[in-house]
Amino acid sequence: MADCIFCKIVSGQIKTEFLYKDEHVACFKDIKPATPAHFLVVPVKHIPTPADIKDVDREILGRMFQAAAKVTADLGVAKSGYRMVANVGPDAGQEVPHLHIHVMGGKKFGWPPG
Ligand code: AMP
Ligand code: ZN
Repeated sequence: MADCIFCKIVSGQIKTEFLYKDEHVACFKDIKPATPAHFLVVPVKHIPTPADIKDVDREILGRMFQAAAKVTADLGVAKSGYRMVANVGPDAGQEVPHLHIHVMGGKKFGWPPG
């Protein structure tokens, strides 16, 4: 997708330091971190929202969670715990229409979220 910032990041058009990257999934730090450890997990394929996930994409979702788990271990927050959030649509404040999971660690969270 020509205008998508996350497509530009995964394709290397926007220079980014990847915490993890393979042919299906990329992880990189959020530019505006909400917690001490805050990174994004995105599919390399442009998938805007969960409603756009096709049967053929199912494996990518598993790979996204596996990559997230690996990076949390690398960042030292796997044992202390972390929160995973996917904002979808206007009420959730989704800014980038390319499916992504926020992974946030390094602080204690309340529940339910505000
Ligand atoms: P969302 O509101 O769930 O769509 O979140 C989009 C996230 O992408 C925000 O937390 C932004 O800080 C983050 N973001 C936007 N541009 C970049 C970028 N170039 N590199 C890293 N994170 C970004
Ligand atoms: Zn995209």
